[in-house]
Amino acid sequence: MLKGHSKTNIRNRFALSVKARCMAELKAAHNKYQGDIKVLKKAMVDVISTIILCFNGYCGTSCAKYSYVCAGTNRQAKNFMPNNVKVRMVDSDQQVLQKCLEMVLSPAALDATKLLTTTQKC
Ligand SMILES: [Zn+2]
Repeated sequence: MLKGHSKTNIRNRFALSVKARCMAELKAAHNKYQGDIKVLKKAMVDVISTIILCFNGYCGTSCAKYSYVCAGTNRQAKNFMPNNVKVRMVDSDQQVLQKCLEMVLSPAALDATKLLTTTQKC
């Protein structure tokens, strides 16, 4: 995934992409469920694992099923990825990604942020 001098840059852009994707999912789901936080929390649990798959190059049926912004065609996934970057995540990257996602989308996070208040942590 990451090579040479652009390493940090790509990592930063990747983190921004993750955040953008999180917020997009949250907004879309929030609209769909009209702010019903109970349903939203349940939905976001699936979204977390879906985003991990999607960013890991397995955009497909899980996106079609659980994502609110990615239809699972790989095309939308690219909108949330840094340009021209082939992402190959290693295990440690995936753990970081999962932590980031949970910081924004986990039930506890949704309680803590009272929805759509962006956190600066991820
Ligand atoms: Zn996808």
